[in-house]
Amino acid sequence: MAVSAKRMTIDEEYWQRFPTSAELFARAKSAIPSGVTHDGRNFSPFPVYMSRASGAYKWDADGNKFLDHWMGHGSLLLGHNHPVVTQAVMDALARGTHLGANHEDELDWAELVRRLVPSAEEVRFTGSGTESTMLALRDARAYSGKPKVIRFQGNFHGWHDYAMIGYQPPFDSPTSAGIPDVVSGTMVTLPPSDIEAVKRALDADDQIGTVILEPAGGSNGVIPPDVQFLRELRELTTQRGVVLIFDEVITGFRWSPGGAQEYYGIIPDMTTMAKIVAGGMPGGAVAGKAEIMEMQAFTGDAKHDRFQRVLQQGTFNCNLPCTAAGIAALRIVAEGEATEYAARMGDLVRQGMSESLTRRGVAGVVYGERSVFHVVLGEGMAEAVEQKDVTKLMGARGAAAPLRKAMLLEGVDFMRTGGFTSIAHGDEEISFSLNAFDHSLERLQAEGIV
Ligand code: PMP
Repeated sequence: MAVSAKRMTIDEEYWQRFPTSAELFARAKSAIPSGVTHDGRNFSPFPVYMSRASGAYKWDADGNKFLDHWMGHGSLLLGHNHPVVTQAVMDALARGTHLGANHEDELDWAELVRRLVPSAEEVRFTGSGTESTMLALRDARAYSGKPKVIRFQGNFHGWHDYAMIGYQPPFDSPTSAGIPDVVSGTMVTLPPSDIEAVKRALDADDQIGTVILEPAGGSNGVIPPDVQFLRELRELTTQRGVVLIFDEVITGFRWSPGGAQEYYGIIPDMTTMAKIVAGGMPGGAVAGKAEIMEMQAFTGDAKHDRFQRVLQQGTFNCNLPCTAAGIAALRIVAEGEATEYAARMGDLVRQGMSESLTRRGVAGVVYGERSVFHVVLGEGMAEAVEQKDVTKLMGARGAAAPLRKAMLLEGVDFMRTGGFTSIAHGDEEISFSLNAFDHSLERLQAEGIV
């Protein structure tokens, strides 16, 4: 007698499909806190362990194939292992990893950044996005002579001490333990896109000399700011002599080859970069007005250089393979097509996923711009994006994990609430992704999760 097969739940199937990942995770927990090496990869009951990648795809430890939307945390605009970037890295490796010296490649890299990014009169390289925002804040504080910095709710600026307050709700409490109150006290967190709030804060506190923000909704949970707000913020900060920093770690080279600043035609005083700037390898950059960047310059006046100059070091700044990857990637970006193509694919993903939500009557919102997309399921989320209610949006992560799990079972790796498109995502990949999304929603509905 035929027994009707009852479909496994998402959770049951997850355990069954990724057994090697489950084993590796069990092993990892005794060597690594929570078994993860980046908090964003923490996942219950266990994260999927990937073993290799190519183009738009990656494969896990059990040999399952996935379409990737995580894309190296957004660093792979050109896809995994782009042949030109990979060759450049291999050629560099053949010359060594670290020359412990200045070299011509770093100059080529700096000149490319200057050519592409409108605000980049001068450039310094760092080891990561976190180091970039840390250095930019130091430059800006030294230049303005003022310790306090305005930042916006939910924007992500890396994980150094100053970036930990205002990142996640409740915004008046740092997202990490171990942050001294005296550090958090130098940061002023404001709601996004509220120019009156910025005016009030500047009027109330003459110790504020810097504003930092993501100029577009790049990272997880960031609601794209109004362009009108950006324009007014630029005017206001210019009038008040406040340093404006655009954190373009994600938007840099994704919004346009010159970043969000070129896309919107709004030029900040300083720009922080990482990810694509280093061709998907470890590395970052801080660029900006010469008179601010010159805070880092040696003048030869011993007293000035000891007490008024901004110090920067970093063993791996401009190491050969990362520099080579950055140069190769930026040369491709400079041609302009990569950024536009990935953005078109982003439009298709957002449109297709929105249609799925509507067709299935699932409450939620798909948002984002260019080659970035976010999906947040739940009632009132479209309104939360509309009203820029970051607390509500960031609080609504209930269905995010089941959706991600269902997508993995369908063969797609989402970055928490969405992800990125790249030049390796063609029509076939987009329709695979949209089908996977639709099936995942069906499954979440069947299990009563949405
Ligand atoms: N700023 C933004 C806008 C980011 O998205 C990130 C990383 N996702 C960072 C800074 C930190 O960069 P990193 O992870 O290289 O330290």
